[in-house]
Amino acid sequence: MELFPLPAFTDNYIWVLHDRVRALVVDPGEAEGVERWLQQHHLQLDTILITHHHADHTGGVEALRAATGARVVGPAHEPMPEPLERVVSGDVVTALDHRFEVIEVPGHTAGHIAFYCAEMDGAPLLFCGDTLFSGGCGRLFEGSPAQMFDSLRRLSALPDNTRVCCTHEYTLSNLAFAQAVEPGNADLTRYTAHCEQQRHQNFPTLPSSIGMEKRINPFLRTHMPEVQQAASRHEPAAPTDAVGVFATLRQWKNTYR
Ligand code: ZN
Ligand code: FE
Repeated sequence: MELFPLPAFTDNYIWVLHDRVRALVVDPGEAEGVERWLQQHHLQLDTILITHHHADHTGGVEALRAATGARVVGPAHEPMPEPLERVVSGDVVTALDHRFEVIEVPGHTAGHIAFYCAEMDGAPLLFCGDTLFSGGCGRLFEGSPAQMFDSLRRLSALPDNTRVCCTHEYTLSNLAFAQAVEPGNADLTRYTAHCEQQRHQNFPTLPSSIGMEKRINPFLRTHMPEVQQAASRHEPAAPTDAVGVFATLRQWKNTYR
């Protein structure tokens, strides 16, 4: 199986997974670039997976379905282009002979889901939409900090070698914020240098891994004393439990430049 992040718009990736004959795409915000890429690689679109309802993740669905007849699978509790195979937590989607487990991860949107494949050429694969980014997490448009915290906790419990396929190339700006939170984190300094090099050559920083995110992503590190101290320096009146620290970080990041 081959995995490719197809760039779209300014900073989206439309993930393509294929077996050299059939392809699966995740969150196609637009159709033209996807169709062109599939044609160039002589691939038949088999399945479209959708994580949440935002237009930059769903805008290409109708045109791709019309052109290819692909099956469309998406979240049960989000407004979605119909017809749709609606899935909920615990459902298993079989596509390209692989099993993808559905994990509900509310927060960015109320019905956001992720797709997790435990076995894919030796390393698990996670399509997490706008929930987990490398070095960051999605904005809370529809959910509460407690919901997003819980969603991220479920994702961080996946195996360390899980490849994390996020939908946006936000890594460098996330890491700049992460450095402000944890200037003493040596893993973060090393990873930032690596990602800067990747971007300098116009390569994606993704996929990341759950193991790396646990070492460098402040939103998965609210239990660390340095992160807690940074949060309470920024917002002395904020609650100091894990969800409170998470809420402070999310708020801080919204205005961080
Ligand atoms: Zn979104
Ligand atoms: Fe998005």
